[in-house]
Amino acid sequence: MSDAVVLGLDVGGSSVKYRLASATPSEGIPEALAQGTVSTPKHDPVAGLAAIARDVTALHRLVAVVVGIPGLVDEASGTVLRSANLPALDGLALGPALSAELEVPVGVINDGRAAAVAEARWGAGSRERDVFTLALGTGIAGSHIVDGRVVDGAHGIAGELGHVVVEPSGARCACGQRGCLETVIGAPALRRAWNRAGGHGSPKDLLSAYEAGDARAARIIERAAAALADAILTLLALVDPGVIVIGGGLASAPHRIVERAAALVAERATFHRVPAIVPAILGKWAGAVGAVSEARELAGRVVGASAG
Ligand SMILES: [Zn+2]
Repeated sequence: MSDAVVLGLDVGGSSVKYRLASATPSEGIPEALAQGTVSTPKHDPVAGLAAIARDVTALHRLVAVVVGIPGLVDEASGTVLRSANLPALDGLALGPALSAELEVPVGVINDGRAAAVAEARWGAGSRERDVFTLALGTGIAGSHIVDGRVVDGAHGIAGELGHVVVEPSGARCACGQRGCLETVIGAPALRRAWNRAGGHGSPKDLLSAYEAGDARAARIIERAAAALADAILTLLALVDPGVIVIGGGLASAPHRIVERAAALVAERATFHRVPAIVPAILGKWAGAVGAVSEARELAGRVVGASAG
């Protein structure tokens, strides 16, 4: 048996990314002893994830696991409250169930939060102690991270920049309010606006049309950028972050909405201190890196508790 290891799992709708690292804390990013992708077990997720963990750690002494889940998670109890992509997990006390199977502590974390922690600690935010990460995709997810830890408020919902109202009489949001940022720059909102304007295809096609000088595309991009700028100015006034890291599907490639929003923020800022607005750099492994580093902390807490 080799030294103690920790495992991070980033569970997606179709695949699970895993990263195995030494349990011993290090200065830099937790180096991968093994890393890879396997199919998501859909029908019996507890047995399936336990089997993945056993396979990956067969030659090692596993001491802690953290699982990143796409959905609403109660971290304190390790319960998945709701997961749109993986309904088999809904309401499941995944942490305790996996812990009973593997006989090690198992934590459960929201996948976006895991990726945000990784970007703040070792990615694009690593030079600042106060980082705000924003993931632009179907929804808009935000996390405020100070000294490598998420500041999640009294009820665990801080950072929801996607539900800041930017158009008070705008479209109804999934959350029930009108005119949230998500209703203007979420991927479905961009697709709807583009199709309503007579365009075809996805937000990527919208961006291509914009690059090609399409005036209808330019109006949509301008409206989206203005909405994002409003939200970022609110963020600067309330949080005053040292850097804003932007990732997610919509932010990959040169992202004109983000570039234009950053320019508008710089023009409109008065007392605000405008931080750098930079792209995320850890890419698709960010969630697994965040999960494995949380697993290291979990292992440390367990050792500390048994020593005390
Ligand atoms: Zn909303």
